[in-house]
Amino acid sequence: MGLEKGSLSIHSENIFPIIKKWLYSDHDIFVRELVSNACDAITKVKRLDAFGEAKIDMTDEFRVDVILNKEKKTLKFIDNGIGMTDEEIKKYINQIAFSGAEDFLNTYKDKGDIDQIIGHFGLGFYSAFMVADKVEINTLSYKEGSQAVKWTCDGGTEFEMEPSDKTTRGTEITLFLGEDGTEFEGQYKIQATIEKYCSFMPYSVYFDVEDKEPKKDEEGNIVVEELKPLNTIEPLYVKSPSTIEDDEYKEFYRKTFNDFKEPLFWIHLNMDYPFNLKGILYFPKFNNEFEMTEGKIKLYNNQVFVADNIKEVIPEFLLLLKGVIDCPDLPLNVSRSFLQNDGFVKKISDYITKKVADKLNGLYRTDREKYEGFWDDISPFIKFGSLKDEKFYDKVDTSILYKTTKEEFFTKEEYFEKYKDKVKEDMYYATDKVQQAQYINMLTDIGIDPVLFEHSIDAPFMSFIESKAENMKFKRVDSDVSDLMKDTEEIDEEQNKKDVEKLTESFKKALNLENLTIKLESLKNTEVPAMVVLSEESRRMSEMMKMYSAGGFDESAFPTNEELVLNRNNKLVQYTLKEEADTDLSELISKQIYDLAMISHKPLSPEAMTEFIRRSNEIMTKMI
Ligand code: ADP
Repeated sequence: MGLEKGSLSIHSENIFPIIKKWLYSDHDIFVRELVSNACDAITKVKRLDAFGEAKIDMTDEFRVDVILNKEKKTLKFIDNGIGMTDEEIKKYINQIAFSGAEDFLNTYKDKGDIDQIIGHFGLGFYSAFMVADKVEINTLSYKEGSQAVKWTCDGGTEFEMEPSDKTTRGTEITLFLGEDGTEFEGQYKIQATIEKYCSFMPYSVYFDVEDKEPKKDEEGNIVVEELKPLNTIEPLYVKSPSTIEDDEYKEFYRKTFNDFKEPLFWIHLNMDYPFNLKGILYFPKFNNEFEMTEGKIKLYNNQVFVADNIKEVIPEFLLLLKGVIDCPDLPLNVSRSFLQNDGFVKKISDYITKKVADKLNGLYRTDREKYEGFWDDISPFIKFGSLKDEKFYDKVDTSILYKTTKEEFFTKEEYFEKYKDKVKEDMYYATDKVQQAQYINMLTDIGIDPVLFEHSIDAPFMSFIESKAENMKFKRVDSDVSDLMKDTEEIDEEQNKKDVEKLTESFKKALNLENLTIKLESLKNTEVPAMVVLSEESRRMSEMMKMYSAGGFDESAFPTNEELVLNRNNKLVQYTLKEEADTDLSELISKQIYDLAMISHKPLSPEAMTEFIRRSNEIMTKMI
């Protein structure tokens, strides 16, 4: 074979600029394409050897080398795989890949729909032209007596092919980096790109800089550094779960996600039928709400990295987790709109959701204590998942726990069973253990331990549960006064009405408030003079208004129907009711009672707080 020149069977002169512009949104993807082609070439030659169709020296390490030359601005990808004969280059590189390119052009030259373009054509090798002005293939086939071949193409439609003197089996692809590839002249960029896409590729991938400054020891002698592969050739998820120790799972988590907090637990996915899917999903420890948004699911295709957090494959709420999923059946370069409409992808995502629900239910059933220990961390995830995916909710419904202020855990069925003598359909809750302490105590005094809802997901979650569970209502601890807190003693209604009128008048005057609803109740607890209560509906309504008006909410424009419930059994209240009570003192007491009740209900305004402190000091001064 002599020098052969040819023209690629393409009618357009301009294919490469279009490929460069449209094919891949991420330029660095050429690294993935070339290294995975190299790995495929190795797999092929190993397979031929196993079938007895090739005789390979198996003592050599199968490997891929990426070598940068900064001076020459070249980047080489070298493998000891199957190699190609000149016929194969013609077939696989000149024709097949280019016919893909031609299809690509014909279909998309007039359209600008990037989403549709990516990945519909086998153009992996040609992605090299996104960064290179010229590409050279130097290859020797595994076939005995093969002639090595060199193929060169400068990005136009012309190529050259000639015999070469390569003596080792495999393929060496050289990229002469052009203007679009200048960022890849830096070794750290390349190293990071290899780590991003190739960290689980099935053969060792080494990276070296040909013209680097040699490393010297103290005496000035050159030290030869041993190269280490940048990848793990057998990522943990490909192994059988029964052979893996917990520590290995934790180590894999640390390395893959650079997260030094231990994961809570994990799910090893391992499925062969009806589709292939392997992976590990970790439940991370969330330290705060912000971290809730920080999950990461890495998607692989036969150990080749595809992308992070592909919403079309992984249900959105699962993106709060961290994990790797390898699904060889997914097209490697997938357009997202294509995935979204794919029934197969839906099956994958249903499968993953089901596995997660099974794991949670399994933990709940077999190790309730441990599950309760995880609850604070996993509950936002479960609640978010329930809101996002009703099927998920239906599966985990019976494993949803409610944590009480005394740190006990109940399912809703357990809660209503425990309190069946006290409540019918109300589940009492608190959102702030400190601020609402008085209301919490009044409930615990009558034997009800309210549940705690402290996370921002809890408000929508409550509404959701109410819409799903029949006859169930959530009531904040300050939303009403339970009958159980009241004395059973009969009160003369006429007298009560008169007292309420009197108190309303004196409190309104003292507080200088026009709208004030006052109630009078005989509470068992004699120490508490008053409570401010606001019905659950009114409070939720005003919270919603606040949320939607994003800061510009004027509370005074929307009276919130708060009620001041005074306790007839409290000495201070009794004093203000007396005919002979001192007017000034009575006014002082009324104001103080109101502020104290308000403090347990919501934060005071700065002015009200200042006045409350001043008045408290005034009261103490009176005592001396
Ligand atoms: P794909 O990998 O999707 O088939 P490519 O354009 O990446 O498309 O490659 C086209 C073909 O060229 C491959 O199918 C393979 O036969 C051949 N090829 C590419 N790279 C190598 C390599 N490093 N060693 C041997 N053959 C290769």
